Amino acid sequence: MIAVIHGDITAYSGDAIVNAANKTLLGGGGVDGAIHRAGGPDILKACRRIGGCGTGEAVITTAGLMKARYVIHTVGPVWHGGNSGEPYLLANCYRNSLSLARDKGIESLAFPNISTGIYGYPKALAADIAIREVLSWGKEFRDIVFFCFESDNYRLYREKLQTSP
Ligand code: ADP
Repeated sequence: MIAVIHGDITAYSGDAIVNAANKTLLGGGGVDGAIHRAGGPDILKACRRIGGCGTGEAVITTAGLMKARYVIHTVGPVWHGGNSGEPYLLANCYRNSLSLARDKGIESLAFPNISTGIYGYPKALAADIAIREVLSWGKEFRDIVFFCFESDNYRLYREKLQTSP
């Protein structure tokens, strides 16, 4: 089932939470900061061991003190106007996160609206990519949740998913 929830992704109690991380994996603002605060220092320790992550790639760590078991860290593209491979790289975030989740036997996971905060990706364009990728690659999962922190993203996902096949 694909669901849309308005709220804080750190409260998710399924198997895995996806983090919109940065390339250093050493924490930052937005959802990344919230995940590290809620999960505690074990996430940062695991991230340091991994050492970094490329744009569009994904890596997995413990979820520390949160209810979920894992955090999948993926690095979204910074929006530079749309001609620098941003759509391809954003699609890769969703695909690589889902592929890693499947390899780990994860059945339920939650995505934030990757790249639409500090990285400036236009929200409607990002939602189209997120929904397309999750609909085409997410069939094997029991639950995939789009966790929307901002009301405009929540509205967008609700609208777009109602009109998706
Ligand atoms: P990016 O650098 O990829 O743009 P941000 O963390 O700045 O990452 O923003 C990505 C999305 O995550 C934004 O839509 C932002 O509103 C949202 N966000 C911020 N905090 C949370 C949270 N606690 N739970 C879910 N989403 C969040």
